[in-house]
Amino acid sequence: MGATDRGLRAAVYLLRGGGLVAFPTETVYGLGADARDERAVARIYRAKGRPAQNPLIVHVPDMAAAETLIDLPAKGRVAARAFWPGPLTIVAPARARAGIADICRAGKSTLAVRIPAAPLALDLLRAFDGPLAAPSANVSGKVSPTSADHVMEELTGRIDGVIDGGDCAVGLESTILGFEGDQPVLLRPGGVTLEALEAVLGPVRALGIVENAAPDAPGQMSSHYAPGAVLRLNADAPRLGEAWLGFGPDPERGSAISRNLSLTGSLEEAATNLFAHLRMLDESLDYKGIIAVAPIPAEGLGHALNDRLTRAAAPR
Ligand code: AMP
Ligand code: MG
Repeated sequence: MGATDRGLRAAVYLLRGGGLVAFPTETVYGLGADARDERAVARIYRAKGRPAQNPLIVHVPDMAAAETLIDLPAKGRVAARAFWPGPLTIVAPARARAGIADICRAGKSTLAVRIPAAPLALDLLRAFDGPLAAPSANVSGKVSPTSADHVMEELTGRIDGVIDGGDCAVGLESTILGFEGDQPVLLRPGGVTLEALEAVLGPVRALGIVENAAPDAPGQMSSHYAPGAVLRLNADAPRLGEAWLGFGPDPERGSAISRNLSLTGSLEEAATNLFAHLRMLDESLDYKGIIAVAPIPAEGLGHALNDRLTRAAAPR
């Protein structure tokens, strides 16, 4: 479905009827459902095979709508003003009687809320005129989708529609910011860097950051963002038979199937390419192939890139 007015109207019609519609945001494609409709939200969990204890992010078009759903601590409001609309999710105490289906919170007293920046996402939210629960539009545990094709490859037959808005501008999921009292806590690194958050909030405790796992010691991290292939991180060069995912100038890589996240070493460019390149290499490899991945610097968006790569490499 194209992003015409007619397409948007069709999407709204499907969503009002309790349907599932995937839509582009600047982070990744989301799988949207009416966040007030318990049955529609339950369908998200079924379509993705998502564990019921994993709460959803609710998307709204503006600050007024966000404040009807959550009780923002002072620093939450500061972060919201600085980064909304944008790739930041804020977790804060849920307001009673906000009308959000309980299963969005998966039993927690807090709710995760975001105002996305992608124009099509905002158009859809305004046209729908209500909150949309939307996790990434992929099978749970697999690589996140950054194009409408990625969504259709995995979810055709399980969802009611996709709005095609081309490739996602950021390419990594949102940063998730929570609070312990008024103390900001980073729950997941993502499209807004820790450095940018700290510039407006002061120190932020980083819980969710995973860096530079040793190549042969994948650590305790739970598997997520996982391709079919095995990942070998922080590699100097591909070994015989491995595929290669480079960052910056490539080493001699023989006949390896390869992709480069950013030849110039741009973390922003690497973020937009990560999930699409992982999918591409995965498809080119035989079952249980290995993708060797170049080191990514632990700064800026590199924190989120390393987090996703480490989870993608985790044992499963
Ligand atoms: P996804 O929609 O797949 O990007 O995942 C959303 C993530 O947001 C979940 O995996 C949780 O880790 C996080 N999240 C959502 N709601 C909450 C909450 N109330 N408290 C803490 N984390 C949350
Ligand atoms: Mg996801």
